[in-house]
Amino acid sequence: MRTVIVTLLLGFALNVSAQRECASHQYVDQLTIADPSYKNRLADIETFIQRHMAVAATSRLSATTVVKIPVVIHVLYNKATQNISDAQIKSQIDALNRDYRKKNADTANTPDRFKGIAADAGIEFALATADPSGRATTGIIRKQTSVSYWQPDDKIKLSAQGGDDAWDTKSYLNIWVGYMHTLLGYSSAPGGPADKDGVVINVSAFGTMNVSAPYDLGRTATHEVGHWLGLRHIWGDESCGNDFVDDTPVQGSFTSGCPNGFRTTCNNGSLGDMYMNYMDFTNDACLNLFTKGQKERMRALFDDGGPRYELLNSKGLNTPWNTIEEAPVANEVIANAVSKIFPNPAQNEITLTVGADAKWIGKEVRIVSISGGVIQKVIIATASQKINIANLKAGMYLLQGENGADKFHEKLIKL
Ligand SMILES: [Zn+2]
Repeated sequence: MRTVIVTLLLGFALNVSAQRECASHQYVDQLTIADPSYKNRLADIETFIQRHMAVAATSRLSATTVVKIPVVIHVLYNKATQNISDAQIKSQIDALNRDYRKKNADTANTPDRFKGIAADAGIEFALATADPSGRATTGIIRKQTSVSYWQPDDKIKLSAQGGDDAWDTKSYLNIWVGYMHTLLGYSSAPGGPADKDGVVINVSAFGTMNVSAPYDLGRTATHEVGHWLGLRHIWGDESCGNDFVDDTPVQGSFTSGCPNGFRTTCNNGSLGDMYMNYMDFTNDACLNLFTKGQKERMRALFDDGGPRYELLNSKGLNTPWNTIEEAPVANEVIANAVSKIFPNPAQNEITLTVGADAKWIGKEVRIVSISGGVIQKVIIATASQKINIANLKAGMYLLQGENGADKFHEKLIKL
């Protein structure tokens, strides 16, 4: 008896000190409170998933089809260190592809009793090559922001709130990366508001470079993308709850840290807890599988009429077909802190401030029409450069400048 009590206390201590923080369940709960009809949509989607998992529907995605998902990464940085490298971003894409194709080396650590149901989900991820307008892109958007940390309130998904607007969520998986204190991430569930569909990951747990244990193998994104693909937490978010997947054992609650050996809860018998499942809260190094049931659940979303079906028709990985327009957004550092236009909107004259950032002096700034044509060029001569725009036609323009790897890009409204 004493042993049991000590174990419980130790377990509690671990939960407090080293718990993976995922806010997806609370996030979806909040959305259903804000919009009661969302609860009905979730129920409809659940019915769809269950029907497609149970019946060999004629519209079923072929079991051998590998689904390839175009990804756009929105990097929102307040400090320069949060403006992570392309290599770090690619390390996250690689980690997703290992885990969703069961090419992770630590699949060897899956306990024998679960090896037979560990699944290659047949889902792959790639940075977008074409943006929603067909322009060439790296699939990475970088944007400096005055927001010092993000909460699971979706501000990171809105340009007007200091974040960055989603690309068409029917065609891209949007992943926002920013600093979030101890929260590791959260995801929308299928069927939520289209402009907020996607995954948010703390920069401290993104990729496999420049991150530290226990969240250093990119599995925060593996877990959150699992939610985006309709998976629930393995314990069903209540004591011995239901994750709507048949081959994952019922489990009492989440797991923290990195346990060893057999654990049992909820009378889950000879199988015991599957605490190495990506949808638990275990440390990255101790996660290693999705099950066949989870695979079927995720893939059902891509069946005809399912909430992720339209992604199969995305052009996000096509060769860019719009070669007339420059891509004004993708992969540009939108450095609001060093460049500001005022007034904006404006009629006759604007002032472009590059602040204390003297390296912009002598560089060119271009006023570009919305269709990509360069209308006017100005060499920045002072930190507070006046630009005459009296001759521009009324409408929206883009102010663009570049200085080596640094670029800026601001919208300008001419009255
Ligand atoms: Zn989660």
